[in-house]
Amino acid sequence: MTTPSMLKGARERWVRTGGVELCVAELGDPEQPTVVLVHGYPDSKEVWSEVAARLADRCGFHVVLYDVRGHGRSTAPQPLRGGFTLAKLTDDFLAVVDTVSPNHPVHVVGHDWGSVQSWEFVTVGRTEGRIASFTSMSGPSLDHFGHWINARMKRPTPRRVGQLLGQGAKSWYVYLLHTPALPELAWRGPLGKRWPKILQRVEKVPGDGYPTASLPSDAAHGAWLYRDNVRARLRRPRPDAYAHAPVQLITPQGDAFLSERLYDDLDQWVPRLTRRTLPAKHWIPRTRPDQLAAWIEEFVTAVEGGRPEPAATGRHAERFGGQLVLVTGAGSGIGRATAFAFAEAGARVVAVDRDAEAATRTAELSRLIGAPEAWAETADVSDEQAMEKLAEKVHRAYGVLDVLVNNAGIGLSGSFFTTTTDDWRKVLDVNLWGVIHGCRLFGARMAERGQGGHIVNIASAAAYQPSRALPAYSTSKAAVLMLSECLRAELASQDIGVTAICPGLVNTNITSTARFTGVDETEERRRQKHSARLYSLRNYPPEKVAGAILDAVTHNRAVVPVTPEARGAHLLSRFMPGVLRGIARVNPKL
Ligand code: NAP
Repeated sequence: MTTPSMLKGARERWVRTGGVELCVAELGDPEQPTVVLVHGYPDSKEVWSEVAARLADRCGFHVVLYDVRGHGRSTAPQPLRGGFTLAKLTDDFLAVVDTVSPNHPVHVVGHDWGSVQSWEFVTVGRTEGRIASFTSMSGPSLDHFGHWINARMKRPTPRRVGQLLGQGAKSWYVYLLHTPALPELAWRGPLGKRWPKILQRVEKVPGDGYPTASLPSDAAHGAWLYRDNVRARLRRPRPDAYAHAPVQLITPQGDAFLSERLYDDLDQWVPRLTRRTLPAKHWIPRTRPDQLAAWIEEFVTAVEGGRPEPAATGRHAERFGGQLVLVTGAGSGIGRATAFAFAEAGARVVAVDRDAEAATRTAELSRLIGAPEAWAETADVSDEQAMEKLAEKVHRAYGVLDVLVNNAGIGLSGSFFTTTTDDWRKVLDVNLWGVIHGCRLFGARMAERGQGGHIVNIASAAAYQPSRALPAYSTSKAAVLMLSECLRAELASQDIGVTAICPGLVNTNITSTARFTGVDETEERRRQKHSARLYSLRNYPPEKVAGAILDAVTHNRAVVPVTPEARGAHLLSRFMPGVLRGIARVNPKL
């Protein structure tokens, strides 16, 4: 019999197994592939509420959640000691899946201790054929962890000792949870009361935490998850803990409890492994539900369709696979190379340019290169209304951006007194206002969503290197650099990174389209040709700038000079600005 649940729209039932009653909630159509979400410590199944709703409503899956024994509305075993072993947790899992999906294997998703126990499910013989795939986040296999420690103890190079110490420091709470009575007293006392506020402040979990009716007792019971399993398994890890289903590993880069290095040796235990990373802290089911639902959907759909799982390797594929990225000025040069680099990493790409044909070509090639989806959009970034329409369409049709690259820009060369107000307006409209429109329209929705993101603004080495030949262009780029720094400060608390990229001379089309003031058309064409030759002799490819952009987003860098001359000028601007001022006076004979 099913009853209404604390999860909106869910049907609830009770499953009896091994002396406990498990509270099981279901969403969506039971005829569709079943995804079982297993929560961690100290949580209840409600930690998955945002992800579950997306998987059921948007992706159309049959979603099943249950309160682990002793948590939420499930009853606790008696006695507690010995009641939380991995073997008993596996019994519970099998009892649940036998009830909700007796004829088809299920897709398991685990977070924290939900992931630790799901590793057990996917590596023991008695669940073989019952699990179609496993998505793991923030919870390693205790067996793999044990082998990871042993390997480092046996061959302790300085790097490996550093890894051991690093994880050891992050595991402080595990030692505390092994002490008798102290965790119970803390959870039933001040810690239990303050926990939702701590989650909000430290982990940036939205709202007032989430509804866990019986948190202090859950947390006190859950201490036995550690006591019943951790020491025993780490001392004697099973030698044959191989995964019998494909695994997707999602690693938040800012996890305070687990080092990313813990998963370095995982390929030896998992023959079919897809790795994903994201810039977030530990509680990603609450802070990154959109991204998790998208990755789970992609993975489950591939496995169900008998297709290979999404790319398993490559640093950029781990970070950007399935993400939504928009690049302006994507019809040529650095913009096109950037769209391709994101496409190669498996991102979904929106290529925007004022030249419709060029944008379409970039989108077509992006699909060929590896983007699961790519779209072309036409807009002039300097036109506020056109940008508003573009943002409205992108948000409605493709979603909120994960990465925005404000790249579109034009060149303008000529002394201050030959630069007309109209020249100034044109260059500022595209180079500065184009960036402002992009940040305002797309950044606002990123911030509103509250699930992080990144904005990249393409400035230039000209932003910090003065020149008598480029007053308008350099001013526009200096403004972009400062705008990026200010916005970075403002958006940091919302987990949105902002980067200013400052290239030097890059071999693109910009030299042929750049305007030269104070000269007639013939002379302007001659100068364009001359600078095009100069840039092609320098021959720094836009693909390298694209690589720097992906790296900058991955590492959330603030200002990135690209090309040796840009890096050199950056150093001079900080430590010997007088030298740059001297160079600025030289009149380039173009
Ligand atoms: P590019 O090859 O000329 O590409 C720029 C692209 O942006 C072109 O497709 C261009 O279209 C498009 N675009 C220009 N104005 C636009 C507007 N108002 N709305 C929409 N699209 C527009 O130049 P790039 O070298 O790749 O330049 C990309 C960015 O890097 C620019 O911001 C530039 O200032 C910066 N940058 C370049 C260098 C370098 O040495 N190349 C150095 C430092 C910084 P059209 O072809 O129709 O103009």
